[in-house]
Amino acid sequence: MNDSSAMGGSLKYGRSMEALPGPSIIPDRVLRAMAAPMRDIYSAEMMEMSQRLFATLPKLANTNGETFIAISNGHGAWQMALCNTLSRGDKILVLESGRFAVIWGEMAALSGVEVEVLPGSDRGPIDAVAVEDRLAQDSGHEIKAVLCVQTDTATGVRNDIPSIRAAIDGANHPALFMVDCIASFGCEPFYMDDWGVDITVAACQKGLMVPPGLGFLWANDKALAAHETADLRIGYLDWQSRMNVKVHYEYYAGTPPVSHIYGLAEALTMIEEEGGIEAVWARHDALASAVWAAVEAWSTPGGIEPNIAQRQHRSTAVTAIRTGSIDATEVRRICEDRAGLVLGIGIGDLVTETFRIGHMGHLNSPMILGTLGTVEAALLSMGAPIGSSGVAAAAEALSKAL
Ligand SMILES: *Cc1c(COP(=O)(O)O)cnc(C)c1O
Repeated sequence: MNDSSAMGGSLKYGRSMEALPGPSIIPDRVLRAMAAPMRDIYSAEMMEMSQRLFATLPKLANTNGETFIAISNGHGAWQMALCNTLSRGDKILVLESGRFAVIWGEMAALSGVEVEVLPGSDRGPIDAVAVEDRLAQDSGHEIKAVLCVQTDTATGVRNDIPSIRAAIDGANHPALFMVDCIASFGCEPFYMDDWGVDITVAACQKGLMVPPGLGFLWANDKALAAHETADLRIGYLDWQSRMNVKVHYEYYAGTPPVSHIYGLAEALTMIEEEGGIEAVWARHDALASAVWAAVEAWSTPGGIEPNIAQRQHRSTAVTAIRTGSIDATEVRRICEDRAGLVLGIGIGDLVTETFRIGHMGHLNSPMILGTLGTVEAALLSMGAPIGSSGVAAAAEALSKAL
């Protein structure tokens, strides 16, 4: 503890910075849009707003598939994917690459689905060769669906979705391919149709810059065909009543979430103004490069290191940082209590030796450099060993994008 802290001084006053992997920072414009009064949900104006959302969202996923919105978090979209396509006793294969796909599988198991987890690593992406080998053994096609995440928010890995599609095709396997893009949606390039994804799920509170409360799902024709025979169907989440909508509330199976519709519409306008989703992806890529440059510069044997060694396997939405002998809880405490920076806690087995920096959504250079500079200051204040200045490396990385 230094002198100023002994005197009760603190550097945390001012607008705090939440570098969290969701909920992400909500733009003031979105917050203001959400503060509008309620309108008649049967008005043409409200119906048109929803029609615009349903027309725009699939473009962000690059799909001609059917769009569904669940008034829920990402877990609700997970549930919607499962109950509309599977039956009790069906078998599914969950591709582990951290925590989130496994939790999705646990939800399926509760509904009487038989779940097999293909073990993966905390330190790298899904092994497509292992996927192909496992599916090739399933000559009777017992496995009805393959589930994975694009980005695992616990480990910071980005899975190579086309390579997994190629593995499924390589085994000539008919299973539905379901991908969780909750962390990566609006941050990482994603081409649902070109990549052969049958169901994509996402949510609004990460890359899309809207407070938690909307889950998104896209289903292609193969997924819609599976709906015909699914027996896990749940009335409220069922696709049938949400298709061929004539009355506004049918989109949402009840009263539309008016404030969230306003907020999401504003966020989509902001994405358009930025130059479209590709421009948003490019910004995430540049800001992620700065984070990676900093973490790599800080790295020392036994100290800081990126959880995912190779850049091409890292998510541009969240970075998990291993701290070795440095107490990750203390790094987070100093940043939060002393300097107004909230970092993501490690998840699962990674709690004490990892912290996470979320870099998804409404972010720019000063927010990222401020975050990295504050982490570096916290490390220095602890006397933690670091290789070299991460801030200098991050500025250098950003200079290439200016
Ligand atoms: C955040 C997240 C979830 C869970 O979303 P909720 O909105 O909390 O239900 C699922 N998968 C991934 C990859 C996530 O990042």
